Amino acid sequence: MDISVVVPLYNEEESLPELTTWIAKVMAEHNFTYEILFVDDGSTDSSWSIIEQLKEKFDSVRGIKFRRNYGKSAALNVAFEAAVGDVVITMDADLQDSPDEIPELYRRIKEEKYDLVSGWKKKRYDPITKTIPTKLFNAATRKMSGIQLNDFNCGLKAYRNDVVKTIEVYGEMHRYIPVIAKWAGFKKIGEQVVEHRARKYGVTKFGFSRFVNGFLDLLSIFFVGKFGKRPMHFFGSLGVLSFLLGTFMALWMIGEKLYHIAAGIPYKREITDQPLFYIALVAIIVGSQLFLTGFVAELVTRNAPERNQYLIEKEIN
Ligand code: UDP
Ligand code: MG
Repeated sequence: MDISVVVPLYNEEESLPELTTWIAKVMAEHNFTYEILFVDDGSTDSSWSIIEQLKEKFDSVRGIKFRRNYGKSAALNVAFEAAVGDVVITMDADLQDSPDEIPELYRRIKEEKYDLVSGWKKKRYDPITKTIPTKLFNAATRKMSGIQLNDFNCGLKAYRNDVVKTIEVYGEMHRYIPVIAKWAGFKKIGEQVVEHRARKYGVTKFGFSRFVNGFLDLLSIFFVGKFGKRPMHFFGSLGVLSFLLGTFMALWMIGEKLYHIAAGIPYKREITDQPLFYIALVAIIVGSQLFLTGFVAELVTRNAPERNQYLIEKEIN
């Protein structure tokens, strides 16, 4: 099969028939063999029964329904496991992404051998309260990941099949799939300007919390990616540094006092009267805490079942 179109959806009943007809039209024009894989993320409207009706009309429709709402990442992850097409294309259900982009995305994966091609909503039809924070986000993610993409969280993306079988999307990490792919060793990541349209039906499913959560996820994805397998290198080095700094300050103060006493120079101040004493104290305590955190984290990773799972690309026997 050429293409799996993956559509995560949550309460998008009005959009589904139009979206399906449109995808089917594009596929027929280009003679692609395909499936449309709807993942109903626990919708409370009639989305699922519409998918059932669509199945009667379009043989290529497949559907998975969650018992409750787990989030877009969960929906994508389940679809990635189920998709069978050579190229997997994800798109939002709300008609903000255009199925007309599919043939070109497919061509770039197949012919230009990209691992992942991400859409870029260069001209967006979203409220300004969303576009400005999004710009900041993309700049931060670009800087931290070194991936030169303008729009990390575009719903419209294309993948080679083995990429989606390898990566795992959880929590709300769908915002950082290119970063996850890069950590997994898929480096050929491209971008394609895509048409973006205003939401036609329904409402957005993410509120302001998307920015708070997105930022925290950005931090954890980089931390886990960099130190997830060796937490002691992070906590340990900071901890030892802080501990040594504190110890040095304490020794300095003691040494200074002893020197004054030995040399018979009057030394009026008590050690506990000096601000430096408290700084040293805090540094020693924080340092040992960090070290212990690293030690515990190290024990946790040692017990992780995937501690020795590596992604092997090629082998000669
Ligand atoms: N979505 C989902 N589960 C959720 C939230 C959203 O499957 O918990 C789907 C939603 O139905 C849509 C896509 O994810 O197909 C993108 O959501 P939305 O259009 O609300 O996001 P926005 O375009 O505002 O970023
Ligand atoms: Mg949308």
